[in-house]
Amino acid sequence: MKPEIRKDYIQEKYVIIAPKRGKRPHDVERPERITPVKKNDCIFCPENISHAGRAVLTIKNGNSKNNWDIKVIKNKFPAVSIDNKKAYGTQEVIIEMPSHLKELEDMSTSHITNVLKVYCQRTKQISRDKKIEYILIFKNNGGAAGASLQHSHSQIFATEFLPPHLKDKSQRTQIYKLEHGSCVYCDVIKKERKSPRLVFEDKNIIAFCPYASMHNYEIWIMPKRHIDNITLMTHNECLSFAYILKKILKKINLLNLPYNYYFHQVIHDQDQHLYMKITPRGSVWAGVEIGSGLIINPISPEEAAKFYKAK
Ligand SMILES: [Zn+2]
Ligand SMILES: [Zn+2]
Repeated sequence: MKPEIRKDYIQEKYVIIAPKRGKRPHDVERPERITPVKKNDCIFCPENISHAGRAVLTIKNGNSKNNWDIKVIKNKFPAVSIDNKKAYGTQEVIIEMPSHLKELEDMSTSHITNVLKVYCQRTKQISRDKKIEYILIFKNNGGAAGASLQHSHSQIFATEFLPPHLKDKSQRTQIYKLEHGSCVYCDVIKKERKSPRLVFEDKNIIAFCPYASMHNYEIWIMPKRHIDNITLMTHNECLSFAYILKKILKKINLLNLPYNYYFHQVIHDQDQHLYMKITPRGSVWAGVEIGSGLIINPISPEEAAKFYKAK
């Protein structure tokens, strides 16, 4: 395939899909990983997590010797907090499991479903604060993706400030709806499920590599039903979601790349369509990217989809 400039589904974001001939997953440039924290120093391990005051939510399991399966604690060094008018918000950490060395994809589908349900519960609780406009749920895995701790965890960042690129996306989605009478992402689903970028689909959930992928092996997981935030996911939707998330993370593991995943949730905007964006971090953005804002992606989303689908 010849290099091709592609535009995002709705935003003014551009990427040059420029596959190098013969490029295979193992050729991807790998950012260096940081040295993991030793287990006995880890503040998320059950033996060290004695700060009960910081626990916001504990999912218990009678069978587990640690007496908890998933724990949510307040972020110890938050950038935003509810007692700061100048940077209002809240930050929490979700410790996804007691085990120090396991990754999310090592857990059962039902455990991953419970992690998603914890995201739901916290989003519900945090959005009761009428000042909160934006709730971001994200995970950094691996040194270069920004994780400073090895113990598997994800984070919630909630604030009254809506980042400009999301405000822009909200407005464009609303304009699209006025012009077409439908949600742009519901229409994207209709298109992508017939495209070579489709990776997985069942009656609840779809996963595909987006047409204008900015990152190598970028993939989105989307509920097929139009819902704007995670609290509206049903049990069956959470199950399907967990099942495909596990498969995808196992695949990313084969690439040995760090990754981020995230959900943006714009509170009070039901026109948004919820999706999880998973971005493996295989390329270091350099001159062209930083200077022009134009991203070069050497792995086409069609190629990436083939990789995810391969047995
Ligand atoms: Zn640990
Ligand atoms: Zn929709």
